[in-house]
Amino acid sequence: MRLGIVGAGQLGRMMALAGYPLGLEFLFLDRDARSPGGQVGPILTGELGDRKLLGELASRCEVLTFDWENVSVEALESLPSGGARISPPVRALAAAQDRLSEKRTFELLGIATTRYASVNSRADLEVAVKSIGLPGVLKTRRMGYDGKGQFVLRKPADLDAAWAALGSAPLLYENLVPFDREVSIIAVRGRDGSVAYYPLNLNVHRDGILRLTRAPFGSAALTRQAQRAAKRLLEHFDYVGVLTIEFFVRQGKLVANEMAPRVHNSGHWTIEGADTSQFENHVRAIAGLPLGSTRARGHSAMINLIGTMPSREALLAEPGLHWHDYGKDPRPGRKLGHITLVEDSARRRDSRAFKVLGRTDRATWLAIR
Ligand code: AMP
Repeated sequence: MRLGIVGAGQLGRMMALAGYPLGLEFLFLDRDARSPGGQVGPILTGELGDRKLLGELASRCEVLTFDWENVSVEALESLPSGGARISPPVRALAAAQDRLSEKRTFELLGIATTRYASVNSRADLEVAVKSIGLPGVLKTRRMGYDGKGQFVLRKPADLDAAWAALGSAPLLYENLVPFDREVSIIAVRGRDGSVAYYPLNLNVHRDGILRLTRAPFGSAALTRQAQRAAKRLLEHFDYVGVLTIEFFVRQGKLVANEMAPRVHNSGHWTIEGADTSQFENHVRAIAGLPLGSTRARGHSAMINLIGTMPSREALLAEPGLHWHDYGKDPRPGRKLGHITLVEDSARRRDSRAFKVLGRTDRATWLAIR
């Protein structure tokens, strides 16, 4: 069976690396033949929304899946029926591509989220800030990731700058949540409707980019809240594959921030830290295979390597450290790789993770030590 992956970034690469041992084949579509996925598997090169190339991918594969969720819904819907199945479903992609439809989906399913308003004009922004209050965040509805397309407003005078920065695109304004923590849940649903959940991830972002994840995290009650939300979304979309929801934790309650219809950076620890990785379970789900155990093996920490790669020689000298290099050219703010540590206790995991973080990402270390 061959699976087609639209986008050949690190997520696609790790899907393929997880799927080859299962006897599956892969074919990528990406603009860059040297992309992380293109370095490990065959690739069609061109735009991700190119109908002809998507059609070729669909005709040569049994299932199409995604490394990147912002693929044109129209292009996917125009694919001839009877070709490759598309997993996760296009409806889930469409909902996640637009922050407004994402929020409406959360509301429809009774999943607590931020207060928000759609903003299409400067006058809308005034009204939104009046009704929702300050501080708040103005976000582009589409194409936002890693904190891009966001502006935090703290005082009325910030409206001008926020509008000047983002005003040309459809926007959403929401309250800035004074969260205690940020967590995410990664869930997977098989073709037969079976569902499995990984334990909660505790996430630290800086400048809108994920820096550190630790898992398992959280009480049984918090985990149940997250699982309930994930189950509703999975069933609502008749979803197949891995789905991620990111939440703010405020006074023991979860507030959904966003969902990703795909494997997620906060689940990279599962490669070494769980019985079955998120990548393998995604591939199993979309290939119609039974899901694997999501049990955590010990206490994991995942540290993102962003902008520049630290010394491999120095860090590999750390016993039990797992090194992942995505094969990308360095660029400020770019995710180039990650490190995972798995320990027997949360205390030992934290002390080792903080030590490594101090060497690879001093600013985050200083902020949270
Ligand atoms: P996003 O792209 O929406 O996931 O935002 C990236 C990060 O910015 C989040 O993980 C938070 O750390 C922060 N952030 C975004 N929206 C809010 C909000 N409404 N309240 C507080 N922090 C936020």
